[in-house]
Amino acid sequence: MLRYANIIVNITHESVDRPFIYKIPPDLSETITVGMGVTVPFGKGNRLINGFVIELNETSEYPEEKIKEIAGITKAGVGITADAIKLAAWMKTRYGGTMIAALKTVLPAKRAFRPKEKKSIQRLMGKEEITTLLTEAVNKKHNAKVRILRALLEEELLPYELVAVKLAVSKATLSNLEKQGVIAVETVSFYRNPVRLKQTKEAALVLRQDQKLIVDEITSDYQSGKRGTYLLHGITGSGKTEVYIHLIKEVIAKGRQCILLIPEIALTYQTLLRFYKHFGDRVSVINSSLSAGERFDQCERARRGEIDIIIGPRSALFVPFPDLGIIIIDEEHETSYKSEQTPRYHARETAAQIALMKEASLVLGSATPSLEAYHRAMSGEYRLFRMDSRPGGGCLSQVSVVDMRKELWDGNRGMFSRRLQELISAKLAAGEQVMLFLNRRGYSGFVSCRSCGHVHQCPHCDVSLAKHQGGRMLCHYCGYKTAQLLRCPQCDSQYFLGFKAGTQQVVENLEKLWPQARIIRMDGDTTKKKESYEEILSVFGSGMADILVGTQMIVKGHDFPNVTLVGILAADLSLNINDFRAGERTFQLLTQAAGRAGRGTKAGEVVIQTYRPEHYSIVHAANQDFPAFFAEEIMYRELAAYPPVSHILAIWLGSDDEEKGRQAGRELVLAATSLIEDKSLGIIGPASAAIAKINDVYRFVIYVKHHEYHRLIDVKDCLESFIEAKKKTGELSGVTIQFDFNT
Ligand code: ADP
Ligand code: ZN
Ligand code: ZN
Repeated sequence: MLRYANIIVNITHESVDRPFIYKIPPDLSETITVGMGVTVPFGKGNRLINGFVIELNETSEYPEEKIKEIAGITKAGVGITADAIKLAAWMKTRYGGTMIAALKTVLPAKRAFRPKEKKSIQRLMGKEEITTLLTEAVNKKHNAKVRILRALLEEELLPYELVAVKLAVSKATLSNLEKQGVIAVETVSFYRNPVRLKQTKEAALVLRQDQKLIVDEITSDYQSGKRGTYLLHGITGSGKTEVYIHLIKEVIAKGRQCILLIPEIALTYQTLLRFYKHFGDRVSVINSSLSAGERFDQCERARRGEIDIIIGPRSALFVPFPDLGIIIIDEEHETSYKSEQTPRYHARETAAQIALMKEASLVLGSATPSLEAYHRAMSGEYRLFRMDSRPGGGCLSQVSVVDMRKELWDGNRGMFSRRLQELISAKLAAGEQVMLFLNRRGYSGFVSCRSCGHVHQCPHCDVSLAKHQGGRMLCHYCGYKTAQLLRCPQCDSQYFLGFKAGTQQVVENLEKLWPQARIIRMDGDTTKKKESYEEILSVFGSGMADILVGTQMIVKGHDFPNVTLVGILAADLSLNINDFRAGERTFQLLTQAAGRAGRGTKAGEVVIQTYRPEHYSIVHAANQDFPAFFAEEIMYRELAAYPPVSHILAIWLGSDDEEKGRQAGRELVLAATSLIEDKSLGIIGPASAAIAKINDVYRFVIYVKHHEYHRLIDVKDCLESFIEAKKKTGELSGVTIQFDFNT
């Protein structure tokens, strides 16, 4: 007999981050299962709180009288599957944090909702009997009865609302008819479907040779029981989505299901429609605009086998399919696949773990793969496929790099190079469209020379210094400080300034030069609401504007066939992020932005404006040469011991008392050094975080580097116990500590 349950309580605190034992009351012994949500008395006051059952046992090592009893099953709670509990345990180990935080992460919906109901009225008698009843009702002048009987003569099944509202038939009349056996009122429960599309099905395209090869290889691996990870490296428009569609068809034909991750920003109506055309009602979507109830319903539909495919951002990974066959992650390099909350999981790694547990395949797709994925593909861990042509037409653009230092030397102090100005004029005259992309990623007040491009950098860290109040320059990695220089140390130019330019300024400058052009702007300010984002795109897409000016938002997967010129302003801005991925991010942004030009029948042109035309990220992006970029970037990662070659654990500390936070950081560094006797462990910090203060909380960071991930897990585990012990004695109070792997 199962008499005891191990329960994780719903309190996010290190001191209660372990299972607690409870007795199962006899009336629950039949119903209780692993994963169920329960309420239990907790602490000295026996306050009732929620928790999850993670294990059931026959015996317990604790004295019987000390064990409390489960109070009940949470009504609105949703259960967790045994697999999800395993996944949560894996997450906790790999990323840190409490078990309850991990459980809440893998929980696909926060609470349960009752299914919606649809009532209808079913005719139980033959037409002749109804006709007899009708004549009788007409004679007796039972008008309501007449109306419903007439309707029943035409239709065997009537929607309840129609009868109650339109025909104005009362409940009493209906129940009378029900008693006489004329009709039956039926209630069907159903789960909402957020996809409101009506579209006829479409046949799949005939695959091109390279596409077919990919589908065949993956399918035959699958058939022979081999579950692999595959990386599709294909330029935008090379037909990756078509490959996904064929793969999904194969998986569904075997009675299994599919999860397709797409970054929320790229999850447009067009994308959804494309899948809907192939899979109809068997596909559903999860996104941030769903209500909690709709979200829950999608999980229910998946669990009951009503759908085969779910499309959504990273949280769609946790939709509980009975027999998952494949996970596909499109745009796998996207930063939104990493969670910003504890546990800070990465969707790619988590998908790999789920695929392992469910015996599913994993397919990653990108035009600019992450260094992680490509590194694994190079080492043979992933199978790599390349797709280089565009079946739907459209050719690669002509890219030119303009050295903005030279523009200044030649007397052009404006924000547009002469080349870009010429092209804008030409395109406007030809009635074609222009996109101007202002790279503001990583903009954190760095200082650079407009004459020679020199950036004021930290002498110890190889990252740019950030400008702080009072003219001080600060390194966020090591805390190095220096005064701001008034002239460039390299060329003595006086144009040694912080970069100042927003989309607003770009628009103003455009208006001066081309007063007749119709210009729209898209950035964080103009797209506060979700609709305005779609609205701006549709205005531009329908040709009601000539120039679209925007930030990173405009580079994501939208096809505008009439755009024949893309200008990239401040291409090197993102090289100055205080981040070892700066080069990778820059390459990705430039490649994506360049990919926006020439998607129609007309050839496209791209102008990259930069102060660092020689930087490898910019050179290789201009040549659209990913392998060359990878070769240089991986060398840098290797030299500096950064991921994916090595691994890095960031420990974030926060406190509203600056000194307390810093002191806690020092203690953690000491603890890590003494607890883990490993000379190959590199520990850096504590230093102020890149954003040193948020909401009056001072933030610090410690970096620990090692070439083996599991050694960093050891460090995290050691520190977690250290922290728990310290918190018990009241030390480290008022300090929050979070772990973040391979940031
Ligand atoms: P990606 O996902 O790599 O951007 P898509 O799958 O969206 O590429 O394909 C780009 C365009 O090419 C789409 O319009 C698609 O319909 C078309 N396409 C893809 N594969 C084929 C094919 N085998 N035959 C004809 N057209 C194709
Ligand atoms: Zn200079
Ligand atoms: Zn430094």
